[in-house]
Amino acid sequence: MLNLKDISVQYQGSNHAALSSVNLAFEKGDFVCVLGKSGAGKSTLIRTINGLQPLSQGEVTWQGNPLSSKTEEEARKVRREMGMIFQHFNLIPRLSVMQNVLTGMFGYRSTFKNLIGWFTAEEIQRAKDVIAEVGLSDFADRRVEHLSGGQKQRVGIARALVQNPKVLLGDEPVASLDPGTSNHIFTLIKQMHEQHNLLTIINVHDVSLAKKFADRIIALRDGVIIFDGKSSDFTETEYQETYGSENYEHL
Ligand code: ADP
Ligand code: MG
Repeated sequence: MLNLKDISVQYQGSNHAALSSVNLAFEKGDFVCVLGKSGAGKSTLIRTINGLQPLSQGEVTWQGNPLSSKTEEEARKVRREMGMIFQHFNLIPRLSVMQNVLTGMFGYRSTFKNLIGWFTAEEIQRAKDVIAEVGLSDFADRRVEHLSGGQKQRVGIARALVQNPKVLLGDEPVASLDPGTSNHIFTLIKQMHEQHNLLTIINVHDVSLAKKFADRIIALRDGVIIFDGKSSDFTETEYQETYGSENYEHL
């Protein structure tokens, strides 16, 4: 479904590669967590997948076709098939839950309709449906700035789902939440993954969450994949290789 072929990324002015010769294949239904220390290349990998990262080498193919061969319009269509959730939610604080979720549909609409903020009855119903799915029906009209961190991330998930994606990507979506809330949010992500039949790829710094929820773990160190396998096979040895020798009591 989604393939990364020999991808390298080197940022301008940097003397080392953020990603080096990365080869990965993902299928619909995979629930994958990406682990690695800060600076390992996790965010760069996520941006590579949704086509926003300029590549120094290699190619991303989506359903058999290279992204690089697509026009800007076609690339936009691919991107709207990929919903994204973020560490800091990236919501508009002064707007309501409903208004924030509706912005998730912008990729499907004309610039003019987006500018005037006009939505059809079907679009509003679709937004209501996903708001209900994430458990926020009673908060639809509340301004996002008045919500808790966990509720904000539920809005982030609803905004990603409203565009009816095939892929759900997360760049450390629980890094700003307390452990209990992180667990609830991961549970919700897994539920949405199953109900919407998605490919889900989530960066996470918490190994125990990855082992609990993911079927597959990918570990990066200095831009290189050092582990790609079943999460049950990610043990102390792999932990130490990923993070160094300290702190393996996490497992
Ligand atoms: P992670 O998300 O795992 O912390 P990143 O993908 O953000 O890692 O970064 C990987 C490497 O690329 C790091 O060495 C980081 O400093 C570097 N890097 C990331 N973004 C940029 C950028 N915009 N310009 C230059 N270097 C960058
Ligand atoms: Mg990052």
